Amino acid sequence: MKLNFKLFPEKEKPTAVLLIYTGGTIGMKADPQDGTLKPFDFSGILEEVPELRKFAMRIDSYAFNPIIDSSDVEPSLWQSLASLIRERYDDYDGFVVLHGTDTMAYSASVLSFMLENLGKPVIFTGSQLPIGEPRTDGKENIISAVEIATAKDSHGHPMVPEVCICFNSQLLRGNRSVKVNATGFDAFKSPNYPLLATAGINIKYNNSFIHYGYDRRKGLTIHTLLDTRVSVLKLHPGITEQAVRDILLGDGSRAVILETYGSGNAPSRPWFLSLVREAASRGKILLNVTQCLSGDVDMDIYATGRALKDAGVICGHDITTESALGKLFYLMGEHADNEKVKDLLEKNLKGEISK
Ligand code: ASP
Repeated sequence: MKLNFKLFPEKEKPTAVLLIYTGGTIGMKADPQDGTLKPFDFSGILEEVPELRKFAMRIDSYAFNPIIDSSDVEPSLWQSLASLIRERYDDYDGFVVLHGTDTMAYSASVLSFMLENLGKPVIFTGSQLPIGEPRTDGKENIISAVEIATAKDSHGHPMVPEVCICFNSQLLRGNRSVKVNATGFDAFKSPNYPLLATAGINIKYNNSFIHYGYDRRKGLTIHTLLDTRVSVLKLHPGITEQAVRDILLGDGSRAVILETYGSGNAPSRPWFLSLVREAASRGKILLNVTQCLSGDVDMDIYATGRALKDAGVICGHDITTESALGKLFYLMGEHADNEKVKDLLEKNLKGEISK
């Protein structure tokens, strides 16, 4: 469903933003029958945020059909989002994506890889409380996201030409974000990278940490081929040999993210290491990502990490699991050669690792 709102008289090339609604709590209301939260018609959302009318800009909107709880997000949504942004790229100064919080960090991460040479803000936001609730955080989140998506410097260039998450007065790089709170308004953190902006009385931009590396002479290109044959193996004390075997050697995966302890450590038991070696010798891409919220993987510190490195496991540095998935989906979609994927995993492509 496509809806258009003209909130301001047309000027010559007015500032314009496209609000893209995918679903999530921000656009939900209680079903009178059973009390559960269900999506409602997006046309109501601008009536719920009349403050947006105070911005001197054109605000258009586009709603996905169907709108979904973000637990149902699939790669097809990311492909549609990337295509929509590509299609409308020249018509808008920036894009605001309204998305459920549960998988927002996954979507923002993968979009950062899918959008090549992005020179405009793509700001994800949502809310913990539906927009119709008196104490909703949704209004503040949308208003800040719209302001950031259209903010320009004194030369008329976008302040934040990146895929970001704007939540609870903070602007985070999308591929550094994790959802850390299921119920509080401070739902997202960027544990290994500074905030790109904070919204107080004014919005303060942290320019030295914002990426401005796009080429103005070239437009946006998109990568929509994604290979999702990735499994995640979260280590824990007591993990069984069978469980590790099923995930590491399962036919369905081309890559496995090993969620390891601390700075990239794993059990030193012979059966574990021999399964890792076997997976590596079958050509699987094995990526070491720490379970810790902050800090990074260094497989040279402990013998247990070193053994993984020697077995052919790739260092994930300080990447989040969300971002590691997006990076793998994108790289494996682009490259049939696993050695090429491994090589690129080690590189900082979109500010997702500190390297
Ligand atoms: N379950 C919702 C979703 O992710 C939660 C939210 O939006 O905050 O779509």
